[in-house]
Amino acid sequence: MSWKISSSHTDYPQILVDESIFFTGNGYLGVRGNFEEGLPSGQKSIRGTYINAFHDSVPIPYGERHVGFPDTQQKLLNIIDAQTIELFFGAERFSIAEGEILSFERHLHLDKGFSERIIEWRSPSGKQIKLNFKRLVSFIDQEVFIQRVEIDSSDYSGPIRIVSTVNGDVANFVDTSDPRVASGHAKLLHVTHAEQSDSISFVECETTNTKLKTACAAVYSLEVPYTRKDYPAATAIQSEFSFDFTGKASFEKKSVFVDTLRHGENLQTSAFERQNKLAGKNFQSFLQEQTAYLEDFWKLSDVVILGDEAIQEGIRFNLFSLLQSTGRDRFSNISAKGLSGEGYEGHYFWDTEIYMFPVFLMTQPEIAKRLLLYRYSILDDARNHAKEMGHRKGALYPWRTISGSECSSYYPSGSAQYHISADIAYSFIQYYLVTEDLKFFKDYGAEVLFETARLWLETGHFDGDLFKIDAVTGPDEYTCIVNNNYYTNVMAKHNLKWAVMFYQLLQKLAPERLTRLCEKIGLTSEEVASWQKAAEQMYLPYDPVRKLNPQDDTFLQKAVWDLATTPKEEFPLLLHYHPLKIYRYQVCKQADTVLAHFLLEDEQSLETIRNSYHYYEKVTTHDSSLSTCIFSIMASKLGYKDKAYQYFIETARLDLDNTHGNTKDGLHMANMGGTWLSIVFGFAGLRIKEEGISFAPLLPGKWEGYRFLLHYRGRRLQLEKMTEQTVIKLMEGDRLSIKVYDQPYQLEKETPIII
Ligand code: BGC
Repeated sequence: MSWKISSSHTDYPQILVDESIFFTGNGYLGVRGNFEEGLPSGQKSIRGTYINAFHDSVPIPYGERHVGFPDTQQKLLNIIDAQTIELFFGAERFSIAEGEILSFERHLHLDKGFSERIIEWRSPSGKQIKLNFKRLVSFIDQEVFIQRVEIDSSDYSGPIRIVSTVNGDVANFVDTSDPRVASGHAKLLHVTHAEQSDSISFVECETTNTKLKTACAAVYSLEVPYTRKDYPAATAIQSEFSFDFTGKASFEKKSVFVDTLRHGENLQTSAFERQNKLAGKNFQSFLQEQTAYLEDFWKLSDVVILGDEAIQEGIRFNLFSLLQSTGRDRFSNISAKGLSGEGYEGHYFWDTEIYMFPVFLMTQPEIAKRLLLYRYSILDDARNHAKEMGHRKGALYPWRTISGSECSSYYPSGSAQYHISADIAYSFIQYYLVTEDLKFFKDYGAEVLFETARLWLETGHFDGDLFKIDAVTGPDEYTCIVNNNYYTNVMAKHNLKWAVMFYQLLQKLAPERLTRLCEKIGLTSEEVASWQKAAEQMYLPYDPVRKLNPQDDTFLQKAVWDLATTPKEEFPLLLHYHPLKIYRYQVCKQADTVLAHFLLEDEQSLETIRNSYHYYEKVTTHDSSLSTCIFSIMASKLGYKDKAYQYFIETARLDLDNTHGNTKDGLHMANMGGTWLSIVFGFAGLRIKEEGISFAPLLPGKWEGYRFLLHYRGRRLQLEKMTEQTVIKLMEGDRLSIKVYDQPYQLEKETPIII
């Protein structure tokens, strides 16, 4: 049960939600779980196939355009639709709206990496037929999407027609009522070439503005004698397979997707070569490879929950969806909705570094490294963006982007979120702490740290003995453009401190490399000294009366929003109130200061952290899905076991239960990472610091136990927490000093720590 996600919904609007949940992807390609045969007319579907980072750019219209506002916005495009396979039994076309559905189930197999839809159907004239639609996006051959249809009937024999389409005439989904979904520019992809060549159906498209191209080449196989007719048209190719059916038949469609970002200019050659190379492979062989791949993945990344099946399902689904959505090349990253939908237009945010990167860092460090390399690859864009925003030097990473340029059109909760640069620096530092990969730091990390550190000196200023940062927005998007946002200041301090430490480390270990880097970016030792001074004198707002950190200089002076009397239908507030109305109140969309206390807990006393937690808990709506996991982690830290669990369950099944009501637009990827964080950093209390790692495991009341593996400095550790005891084992690698509940231990291969 816990290795598969199942649904029996044929009803609207759950079908739309299931399109996201049952998406199949591999980090490069993502296909929503749409029905091959389509939906009955009049029923809405978000039919989508996406290539990570394949985008067009569109102008951003402004009433009043000010200096430094981005001119264009990028947009992940829905690409060529190869999903369509229609079935005709005699004159009757299979559809869930015709005849009678005797049974309907769909499953996403998390251990095998494919999805299937099994339907028993009675046609309007009474033919009883069983259909199984299977689909898989390969983790091994990233360009491949393969479908298999199995037809089974002891009741019907006679003619069957299968009509399959590769369609380039596609558009993006538009919803004008929700700012989180695109509101215009639906049609940006145009067919440049459609051709049936021998057995390959080929469609190529080009975007309107970026002139990126993508193509799909599809081939078919059918295990019974058949006749085939192809109908190539200007924007789509239809192929019709007719045969005489008795008992059983199966049909396969193997589609290869390529694009000019990765496959050169001649997409036809590239796609055909790939198809030829894959000629010997069918659904079964892809499935075998996929299963082996996932066995390796789960061996290192599974989290076992004992005594709570629903949560077990939730955490595995979340991990699997992350794996399916994570870009692994220099063009791509993890968008807010992964490859499951079009919400947030396929943009990459700070979500990656703070919520998802740690999952990979601790389980699949190679993937974590790729994510950092993407950030390195857009460092020049971040340098440009800093200039656009009026800075002389430094790197300001775009708040939302695909290929590197800033795409946020609403700067108060977009470009003003300068903290993204410190978040990225934070993840480079975490990577170093976990891998000790000095080479990576010399080659990439140091430059990112130095350029982001510079930004803070450009943005902030010394006010007497204090270094202050004005006019930025912290993570909480219900409080914008403020002075001295605690989160931003403390993360900037960390960024500056580590930039200095790395400068000093390179001085010692790689002076030539450092000289070259300093020459490249024009860095002087005086500038580094100014980083040190700013870090030491960084102003971290503190309220001596309430004994907590104010979110910013004015937050505590504002009126408190009356959440208790706000009608339920008015959440999320952002869909019901003008932003200024919201900004005037103490009301938080998401964890802000509380998040800072998680990421940098040594900056404040436990008492301050506790007071902050209680204070912000009362004024936080959790309208962002990035919030409850952080409150869960902090509740664990503070010993509020039940509270930690309550917050946690809101993250674990957020998409499976569609609790935010917008899963149709795609899965909430950051929250999915947050589920893992809530277990590993929350319940198990993992912390990663310079002096090493530590744990403080607790067991939520409802569970019998939990178990997971971690990678750390070339070792593999397993932590198991049961009612009676905690067992930490060294599965691979040399002995290690760790702390558990603040006590030091030596972890050796043969002798697990049992507490
Ligand atoms: C959150 C941001 C987040 C974005 C994308 C917004 O609702 O407030 O913190 O980066 O969604 O997930």
